[in-house]
Amino acid sequence: NTPLAEADPEVARIIEHEKYRQFAELELIASENFTSQAVMEANGSALTNKYSEGLPGARYYGGNQYVDQLERLCQERALAAFKLDASEWGVNVQPYSGSTANFAALTALLQPFDRLMGLDLPSGGHLTHGYQTDKKKISSSSIYFQSMPYRVDSESGIIDYDRLEENAELYRPQLLICGASAYPRDWDYARLRRIADKHGAYLLCDMAHISGLVAAGEQESPFRFCDIVTTTTHKTLRGPRAGLIFFRRREGEDKKESLEARVNQAVFPSCQGGPHNNTIAGIAVALLQANSPEFVQYAKQVRANTQALAKRLVGHGYRLSSGGSDNHLVLWDLKPVGLTGSKFEKICELANITLNKNSVCGDKSAVTPGGVRIGTAALTSRGFKEHDFEAVADFLHATVELATELQREAGSKLLKDFVAAAAKSDKVAALQKKV
Ligand code: PLP
Repeated sequence: NTPLAEADPEVARIIEHEKYRQFAELELIASENFTSQAVMEANGSALTNKYSEGLPGARYYGGNQYVDQLERLCQERALAAFKLDASEWGVNVQPYSGSTANFAALTALLQPFDRLMGLDLPSGGHLTHGYQTDKKKISSSSIYFQSMPYRVDSESGIIDYDRLEENAELYRPQLLICGASAYPRDWDYARLRRIADKHGAYLLCDMAHISGLVAAGEQESPFRFCDIVTTTTHKTLRGPRAGLIFFRRREGEDKKESLEARVNQAVFPSCQGGPHNNTIAGIAVALLQANSPEFVQYAKQVRANTQALAKRLVGHGYRLSSGGSDNHLVLWDLKPVGLTGSKFEKICELANITLNKNSVCGDKSAVTPGGVRIGTAALTSRGFKEHDFEAVADFLHATVELATELQREAGSKLLKDFVAAAAKSDKVAALQKKV
């Protein structure tokens, strides 16, 4: 039982550095959050030692009496956090991550080469929603299934539901996927349900980014309209890194053909082996925390902070995709100021601001994205309020001004020349100190 610092000082040092980096930087990556001490304790517990293939009460290994209790508790808390009735919804809490949850859901719903439609990645969708380019099938969701994406309108940045409906008429998908990684607006689930019903398709929502807001009643709930809802647990929900799959139950259904049976079979044995019980413990803790008045307050603050950030950026004269945000993120179009998302991400990193480059509406290619994605969930967990996010917007504005100046001075369009100039700049060092 030697402590980590003694047993492996090298790894211990790396962890300490990362801890300090998380503390010192302005963390604006929209998919990240700071989970609680309690979640981290559960996640780092002795549960990591246990094998428990199967489901509570039906395992392939002995010694699972406590793991069974834990998994049942986690399931109950998952339904409670999203205000779901156990007679209408069930949940599988074993997926290792959002990507494996999504692949298991596709495995449950579709046959190989069936047709699905999801939001295209350059429009804000996730890889696992059928991503492919003109030249290549990138994701297993486009390799094993056929995919025809829908997109946002290139002017407004809002999903082009009319076009989606027209294309669905031609493509007749078996599955319609909603949910996104970089979409600042809420969804028209009712319309998506109508489109899915026209073609006898399933409707799946991947609410990974917004699940904390959904739990708190700060975004419309996809559960009213969808057959399956997947989520990661580590974004706005503020848990450990993992995934969940919720499935709808139907009265009088044949148990063997039910979504429950198909989802459970798809997770194990089709896509995964033994569940990560330490992670399931972390999820259970996070779900308890998410089902509280404090968490509702947190989610409200996340949205208020995003509004404050958006308003200040627009006040500085910048363009946001779709003009603003309904949730925890903004998509900032940097094309009008002549910067690429890649350059801005790099200079922000040098200034201790962590965010990521992202395609924004009107981009010609996802390889050189024209903007960045900024999320407020992590810093809100650290207690940031609206005025703090106005200060963040001011730092970002100062960084844009510095970046445009450096780009002029570097006299080159190349990212590496720009980064070299920025790394040597006293002004960037001064900005980093201020941040
Ligand atoms: N779904 C959405 C909408 C996401 O944004 C992400 C990750 O960012 C995932 C799924 C994948 O989650 P993971 O990285 O846990 O596999």
